[in-house]
Amino acid sequence: MYLYLFIRIRLWIMMKALVWTAVRKMDIMDVEKPRPGPGWALLKVSHVGICGSDVSGFLGKNELRKPPLLMGHEFTGIVEDVGPGVPRDIIGRLFTVNPVIGCGHCRYCKMGLKNLCVERKIIGIDYPGAYAEYALAPYDNLYPVSDPVRGALTEPLATSLRAVRLSGASLGDSVLVLGAGSVGTFAIKILSAGGIRDLTVVEINKNRLEWARKFGATRLIEKSGDEALKEIRESYPEGVDVVIDAVGSEDTRKLAIGAVRRSGKVIFVGLHDNEVRIPGNAIVRNEIEIKGSFSYTDEDFRRAVNLLEQGLLDPREGWIDIRPLERGQESFEELTGTFTKFVKIMLTPSE
Ligand SMILES: [Zn+2]
Ligand SMILES: [Zn+2]
Repeated sequence: MYLYLFIRIRLWIMMKALVWTAVRKMDIMDVEKPRPGPGWALLKVSHVGICGSDVSGFLGKNELRKPPLLMGHEFTGIVEDVGPGVPRDIIGRLFTVNPVIGCGHCRYCKMGLKNLCVERKIIGIDYPGAYAEYALAPYDNLYPVSDPVRGALTEPLATSLRAVRLSGASLGDSVLVLGAGSVGTFAIKILSAGGIRDLTVVEINKNRLEWARKFGATRLIEKSGDEALKEIRESYPEGVDVVIDAVGSEDTRKLAIGAVRRSGKVIFVGLHDNEVRIPGNAIVRNEIEIKGSFSYTDEDFRRAVNLLEQGLLDPREGWIDIRPLERGQESFEELTGTFTKFVKIMLTPSE
């Protein structure tokens, strides 16, 4: 009887979570189950993708992430409870979540640039994330979706969509994408769907390079650094029109500047290394335009939801692997290497 009561109370107040406790260490533990405050909803997490930025965090390389931390910001879930002011008829429905929370009244929020809000908060960094049975999200950040796996791809797709949009790449341009993780691969898919036919990708993981080809890349380079640059310059003596760096290491940022043509455009979207050495004089002498692209606006997110509902990405092709939360440590380790077979690994905390 007491055991029964104990189990009931535990189910009611506690939940299972995968917590980043130290560099290279993810632990399954019981944490308090959250309760929704005014304007917020409680979701039972269905699928949550592992993001490259979480892997950087895991390695201790992301200055915004400090352990212990409950990460996870690419997720879908079914609403189980709502706080005051939230319509109760959303209970039982499936949503994906825009994890970026703006203050709503600063200059950037008013411009529609919530991603640049001066008081920006992110679920999975500033608020507990979704590597857990339950997660909280503001009602305003919920987007209804029809499929829990496809829905969990919205966040990385929105990141790629913004990077491509800011790159200004247009028909007839040559585009170079550095890194074929989810943001790089999805950027290739968007560019290819938009009619870009000259699409080079640099990636040292053979499997991901092959996925990039299936997603629309027309030239594959399985090299890095100066060797990759040499090969690019052989094909494009003047340099490429546009580069999207979806890695953000010193190596790829240097490569981006070396590979772009004079007056060309470079988008930095990857966030691997904070302090890097890049050739400043080349940027000046070649009038290279460099722009950062951070997360996405509400508009980018809404478009990503629509693109997925329209079938832009097919999760059944084999590039996603879905695993129980208990395989978190192993999955993070796998993503730090260069051998994974997958573009995206997702965890299912509620199973
Ligand atoms: Zn992400
Ligand atoms: Zn704001």
